[in-house]
Amino acid sequence: MLSESRFDEVIKNCQALIREKSYSGQEGDVVKAIEKIMKSYQFDDIHVDKYGNIIGGIIGNKPGKTLVLDGHIDTVPVNEEKWSRNPYGGDIEGDKMYGRGTTDMKGAVAAMISAVGFYGQDHQRNFAGKIYVACIVHEECFEGIAARLVSERYKPDYVIIGEASELNLKIGQRGRAEIVVETYGKPAHSANPQAGINSVYKMAQLIEKIRTVTPPTHPVLGLGILELTDIKSSPYPGASVVPDYCRATYDRRLLVGETKESVLAPLEKALAEVAAQDPEFKGKVSYAFGQESCYTGSTIEGERFFPGWVLDESDEFVQAVLSGVRQAGIEPTITQYSFCTNGSHYAGEAGIQTVGFGPSRENLAHTIDEFIELKQLTGSASGYYGILQSIYGK
Ligand SMILES: [Zn+2]
Repeated sequence: MLSESRFDEVIKNCQALIREKSYSGQEGDVVKAIEKIMKSYQFDDIHVDKYGNIIGGIIGNKPGKTLVLDGHIDTVPVNEEKWSRNPYGGDIEGDKMYGRGTTDMKGAVAAMISAVGFYGQDHQRNFAGKIYVACIVHEECFEGIAARLVSERYKPDYVIIGEASELNLKIGQRGRAEIVVETYGKPAHSANPQAGINSVYKMAQLIEKIRTVTPPTHPVLGLGILELTDIKSSPYPGASVVPDYCRATYDRRLLVGETKESVLAPLEKALAEVAAQDPEFKGKVSYAFGQESCYTGSTIEGERFFPGWVLDESDEFVQAVLSGVRQAGIEPTITQYSFCTNGSHYAGEAGIQTVGFGPSRENLAHTIDEFIELKQLTGSASGYYGILQSIYGK
C-alpha cells in the first residue's frame, strides 16, 4: 500500500496533466508538464520522439526484462458550453476529480509516472531490468500507430496499457479496420442518363452482395462485425449530373489472427462476383488511410487496420500482474477491453505480452463533465506499484 502523502502526490500530478489542454496533435504543453514530473522523480533517459511521444523511466543496475507502462495523453475535444465544471481545472468535489482526460486517460498516466517514481525512490536503481512510462500522442483516431516508435526503440518484453478497466485485468480486445469501397461510373446529364454510368447504382449492387458476407467469430472476442457506416457520391450535390464516383466506408471489428489480406479477401470476392455479372461494373476495396499533423511538425500516417489480440489467463506475465495487483489489495476480474487500444500495436502487431489495467470506468470516457473517482486514481497507483514489486522485486 502507498502512504496517504503519496496518494496526494498522485492526485497533484493528475491535476497538473488535466490543466494542460491536449487535443490530438496538440500535446506539446502536457508533454512539458510530464517532463517536469518525470524530472522531479529523477527519471533516466527522458526522450521525446518525432511524433511527440514522451518516454522516461528508471533503469536498474542489472540487466533484465523491459516493461513499458503505456498511456495516451491526447484527449477528445470539449464542448465547453455543455460542461458544468471547468474541463481544464482538475477540480475536486467530494471523492471525484473533474476534467477532460481524467478517465481517458491522464489519471492512469499520472498514476503510472508516480508509481514508477515511488519505485525508484524506494529501490534506487537496485533491480534487474528497465521500467518505462510511455506517454503517447494521437491515440484517439490512430490506435497504436504512434506506439510503434516505442516498441522499435525500447523493445519491451512486457506492456501494461492503462486504459480504464475499473482496476480489473484486460487480456485482449477486438481490433478494428476501416474499409473503403469505391465504384466508378461515367458522368452524363441526368436528362440523358443512358449516356452515362451511374456509380451509385453500381454501389447498391455491391452493397447487397457484401451483405451476404459473414465475418468470422472468436470464442472469447465474439463477432467480427462488418457494418456500413457512410456513403458519399460525387459530384455532391449532384445537380442534374449522373454521379461518376461513389465511396462507402465499412467498420470491421478484427479478431485474433486476421490479416490485412484475409480481411479484404471476401470483399474482393464479392466485387469480382458483381463484376462477372455486369461488364460495366468498375470498383475497388482498400483500407482507409489516415494522415494527421503532430505538434512536433511531423506527419503521422497509416492504414486504418488495428489488429485484435488475446492472451491466455495462464500466461506468466498475466499471472505476475495478477499477483502484483492482489498484493496491492485489489481483487480484479479478468476480461477483455470492448474498445480498441494501443494494445493493437503492442500485442496485435508486435506480439508483445500485453495486459490492460487502469482506473475508472470506460463509459466515463469522452463524456460531458468527465471525472475520475479519487479512489480509482490512487488505487491504480497502488496497483502499478504492486505490479512493479511483483516483476522486479519488493
Ligand atoms: Zn483512451
